[in-house]
Amino acid sequence: MEKRRIAILGSTGSIGRQALDVVRQHRDMFDVELLTANNSSRLLIEQALEFGANSVVICNEDKYDEVADALQPHYVKVFAGMDSVCDLVGGDNIDIVLTAMVGFSGLESTIAAIKAGKTIALANKETLVAAGEIVTRLSRECNAPIIPVDSEHSAIFQCLQGAHGAPLSKIHLTASGGPFRTWEKEKIAMVTRKEALNHPRWNMGQKVTIDSATMMNKGLEVIEARWLFGTEPEKIQVVVHPQSIIHSMVEFEDGAVIAQLGHPDMREPIQYALSYPSRLSLDNRKLDFAELGELTFHAPDTDRFPALGLAYEAIRTGGNMPCIMNAANEVAVDAFLQDRTGFYDISGIIGETMAGVDFVREPDLDTIFATNREATAKARDILKRHLR
Ligand code: MG
Repeated sequence: MEKRRIAILGSTGSIGRQALDVVRQHRDMFDVELLTANNSSRLLIEQALEFGANSVVICNEDKYDEVADALQPHYVKVFAGMDSVCDLVGGDNIDIVLTAMVGFSGLESTIAAIKAGKTIALANKETLVAAGEIVTRLSRECNAPIIPVDSEHSAIFQCLQGAHGAPLSKIHLTASGGPFRTWEKEKIAMVTRKEALNHPRWNMGQKVTIDSATMMNKGLEVIEARWLFGTEPEKIQVVVHPQSIIHSMVEFEDGAVIAQLGHPDMREPIQYALSYPSRLSLDNRKLDFAELGELTFHAPDTDRFPALGLAYEAIRTGGNMPCIMNAANEVAVDAFLQDRTGFYDISGIIGETMAGVDFVREPDLDTIFATNREATAKARDILKRHLR
C-alpha cells in the first residue's frame, strides 16, 4: 500500500481518537495532514504534536488563541471556524478525508471534500440521512468514492468485495438492540440518561449511544444503507443480534448469504476504510468460535422502540422527510442528554416534527439546509411541551 495522507474531521471524538490509534500502529502508512475539532482544544493540541499534523482547525473561534499559541511554535498551521474546514479539506496535500463529526453540521465540509474529489471515509451518518441522494450523486459526479466506516456498512461493503456487481436481494442489518433490549415498555419510559449511556457492546460517542438505546441509530443506518448501496428500504431488514459478532450480511438472488464477523471494535472498520482495498494488521481481539458458543437473532420491536418505525416511514416518504426526522432527533437527543426530557419524548418529538414541517419531494441542497433550520426550530418548539 502506498502511503496515504489523511484529514480527520472531528479528531477529538470517539471515532477520531480510534482512527488516530490505527494511525499510531501504522505510522509508516499514514501521514496526518489535517485535524479538526469543535471545542476540545487541549486534546487537539496534543494530537497535532504527536502526529505532526500540517494544519489544524478549531471550530470554536474563542479557542483559536489557545491553540495557535501552543502549535505555531511547532510550525503547525492553525485556523478557526467551520469555513476553514471547508477550505482546507480540498487541499492537494490530502488523499482521504475521514468525516467523524457528529450530526448535520458535518454536511457542509463533507460536500466540500466530495467536490474536491477526495476519497471519503464516511463516519458521519447524518450526512447521508439528511442529503443521501445529493451526496451520493455528487460523489459519482466528482469521482469521490465513499467508503463506509459505520461497522454495519463496512461489513456490507466488505461482503460485496468479489461480488462482481451481482445484485443484492437483501441486506440483513444487524442491531445489538441496545441496553434496553429486554426491558418492558413501562420501565423503558423511566430510563435515565446514565442508563441510556451504558451501551452493552460498543464504545461510542454520546449521541450515537443514545441513538442506539432508542434504536434510531438503526433507523439512521437503514437510510444510510439505502443510499450507500442503492438498495430499496423494503430490501433492508433489521435483525437484532445481541452479541454484535456479525456486523451485517448481504443476500444474493440465489439465497446465498455472506456475513462479516468480528468482536465489536470500531478500529477495524475505521482501518479498513483508511487502507481499502488493502488490509493491515490490527492488535484487536480475534474470534474463537468454540468460546462464543452461540449467536442469537430476533426481530426488532417497533412498539417498544418506535424511533425505528419512524425512520422507515421517513425513508419511504423520501424527499426532505429524513432530513426533518434527523433534525428533530438531534434536538430531542440533546435535550435528553441534558436531562430535560424523557426517553419516549425523543420519538414523540420526532413524530410530531415530521408531521409539522413542510414536505418537499425533490429538495436541492439549499432546500436541505432550509429544512434542517426549519425542522430544528419546530422541534425546539415542540420540545417545550415535552420538558420534564
Ligand atoms: Mg453502526
